[in-house]
Parts: sequence; structure tokens; C-alpha cells
Amino acid sequence: MKKIITHKYLMFIVLFINNNSFINAQKNHLENYIPHENTSLIYHPKLLIKTWVHIIQKNYEDPQNITKDSIEFIEDQFKWINQMYKNLKKPSLKAMDGTSPYVPNSRIEFIIDTISFHVDEIGWDRIKMAPVTNPHKLIEIIKIDKKENSILVKGQRQGFRPLQDSIIITNSCCNDGIYNTKSIERQGSNTLIVVEETFNKTEINIGHVSYFQKIDKNCHKDNWLKFTGENKDYLHVFYTGASHDAKTFGCGPSPYFLNVSKILQNGGYATAQLTAHELGHCLGLRHTNSPQFDDLPRTDKFGWIKCNNINTSNNIMGYNLCRNYLSPKQIGFIHSQYSNVSALTRTTKNNIINNNKDIYISEDKKWEKSILISGDIIIKKGMTLEIKEIISMADDSYIYLEKKSNLIVDGGEIRNINNNWNGLVFCKNVFKPNKKPLLKKNIGKVILKNEGEINY
Ligand SMILES: [Zn+2]
Repeated sequence: MKKIITHKYLMFIVLFINNNSFINAQKNHLENYIPHENTSLIYHPKLLIKTWVHIIQKNYEDPQNITKDSIEFIEDQFKWINQMYKNLKKPSLKAMDGTSPYVPNSRIEFIIDTISFHVDEIGWDRIKMAPVTNPHKLIEIIKIDKKENSILVKGQRQGFRPLQDSIIITNSCCNDGIYNTKSIERQGSNTLIVVEETFNKTEINIGHVSYFQKIDKNCHKDNWLKFTGENKDYLHVFYTGASHDAKTFGCGPSPYFLNVSKILQNGGYATAQLTAHELGHCLGLRHTNSPQFDDLPRTDKFGWIKCNNINTSNNIMGYNLCRNYLSPKQIGFIHSQYSNVSALTRTTKNNIINNNKDIYISEDKKWEKSILISGDIIIKKGMTLEIKEIISMADDSYIYLEKKSNLIVDGGEIRNINNNWNGLVFCKNVFKPNKKPLLKKNIGKVILKNEGEINY
């Protein structure tokens, strides 16, 4: 049975204490979420991000992408990405306060849940050159001169880059087609373009000049919409391509999707480094050229350059060739977001029950941060667990309260993102979960303070 325990319903069995003391929890908020070396895996569990990989091929004859017989390529990518997040290197640049803050393992792992193949040229082609068809953007033709191989167009367009390479003539009588630009110069208030080809006929005051424009869909959400219906239960990773001549590129604009194009045009490890960077964006990290957190360098030189100890970081979120460091607060920020924001918790695998991760509370504990819990919680006889923030329980999990134990929820919340955990079990001890203590006063107690909630 699903129910909500709040003070409205549990007037008689729950003891209320009003606590007016307010602790400035924000002050060291991120510090609480940093998985320092040797900190417990219960309090700082590994964050498991659930990814759905989509490989979009150009067409059946010429996929221009990896194929079903090269899935190993994707597995290697994720192996490398996870190694980067697990085996971080020390920072090449000092933080703004002169220190070198360092956590060796981010405790963030990307899990491939599903791999799908699609054949779709529009979805595949993330950067292409296409003729401009918008009538407001076309340029009026004053004269096409067959003798001079030239065309006079309205306005000063000599500096307009798309015309420098080629032009497209449309709506003319006899000269429609693509022409290569030989020269382009101002002529009074108009522009004279000389082309390499010859025209069929001289024409006056008829037709328009169009041109090729780069259409860049690297960061667009169209593939997420088309292939997943804007699904928010996974981080969807799209491997695509581009007809435009470009090196491997990518974009991570959302917690729910990212794009990486032309993965075969790059070394496998370099592609994994690029993807690790885009994943960082998806998880909420920004570029390091200006610091997002106060444990980053004040400035970070961008350009595809080697990291150094003068001006170029080795941060995964920088534009350097090293990309093997994240600062403790960058990492803490990700853990904080995914532990607190339920829309993000949904994209994790931490809610899968794993009874190897059961947590035994054998001494009084106060949990002052939000935690993703993958096992049952057993509050041992006479012990107290106090919860101050959000505890996300695994699907089908329980919290057992043994004889004389206490569960205090002080301003926090116990929940499951699927509203699918089993709630509280009051028992004599966990080995006989159906047996209650003989005396009523010995039954475990739930105490809700400061609007604390247990939802199930
Ligand atoms: Zn970036």
C-alpha cells in the first residue's frame, strides 16, 4: 500500500518536536558531497548514470558510423570514459586560493543500459551545407552579364562570407544553377561578382542569388525528440555524423541527451575524452575558462594545447589535450544535484535494489546530506538514525526498525523516485521481521520534525 506519512495522519504514534534552531546548511553544502578518499561508500555512494546509446547511420549502403559488428568500439569508449572519471590526475594549475584540491576518484560511473541502431540521414547529418531558401534572405539580381561572366547584385555584399566560395542563381530566365565565385567587389552601392563558369544569356532585373549556409544541429534536441520522445529516464548518447567536412565534434546540452559526431574520424581515446567532456556538461558542469566553483583556477587558457602549470589546466571541462582532472567541488556539485533533484535521480541506476548494500545502523547516526541508497536500512536495537536531507530508497527496499530504535526525519524526506519502495517494518529484530516486540513501548519510533516526510 502506498501512503504518505505526515503529521496530519500520524498524530498519535509520532512524537513531534519543534526545532527552531536554523543551521546554515548552504555554507558547506558542496563540501558534504565530495567523495574524499577513504570516505564511506554508504555516505558517498558511487553515482551510476544510466545511458542509452543510439547509433545513427547515414544509410544502409554507406552507414558512415559504427555498425552492429563493432559494438566493442562503444564498450571501449565507456571503459575509457569511466577510467577517466575513476582515476583522476592531480591538477596541473593551482586553484584561485593557491591550493591543489584533489580527489582521486569521482565515484561517477556511466552504465550502458541499451544500445539502439537507427538508419536516418537527417538524424545522422549534424552539420551540413544547404541552400538558403528563405525569400527574405535572397539577394536581388540587377544584371547578369554573359560577356563579362559577371553578375551585379543589390546592396554591398562583398564582405558576406557565404558568397566568397560559390553562389546559386534562382528564379532567373536562363541561368539558374550553382557558380563558383572568382572575385567579389563593391560597385557603388551594389556588388559585382565574377564567376568562373560562363552564363547562358545576359539578363536584367530578374532572379535572385542564393548561397549555401552551414546548418549546425550539433546541439539540437531533434534526435532526442524523434528517437526517444523526449524520454527523461536515461541520458541518451547519440553517435551521429555530418556531411560537412569537419573533425569529430560533440555537444552535451541537457541531462537527458548529448551528441557526438564523426567518432570514426578521431582516435578512439580522443573521442572518449571528448565524450567525457560532453558528459560533464550533461551533468551540469560548465567550461573552466571562467570558474564555476571556488576550487578552480581563476583563468584557464583554451585552445587545443597541452596542459601546463602556467596557464592551461588539465580539467575535463577545459579545452586542453590532457582532460584528466575534475575539482572536488565539480564532483561534489554533480553528486549534490543527482541526490537532491528527483528529475535527475531518475536517470541513475542507484534505485536498483542490491541487498549486498544493506546498511546496518549499529551506532547512533546523523545523516546531514542527501544520499542515494541501494540496499535496505536496518536500524539496530536501541539505535537512532537521524535524517536531515533527502534519502532516496531503492525500489522494493525496506527500512527495518528493531526494538527500541528511532528513526528521526528532521526537515528531510525519505522517498523512492518510482514511489515503489516497501516502507517501514517494525520488528523485534531483522532476522524475524514479522515478530514485533512484546511491549508496545519497545516498538521502534518514527519522529518527524520540521516538516520531515516519509513517502511510500
Ligand atoms: Zn564544452
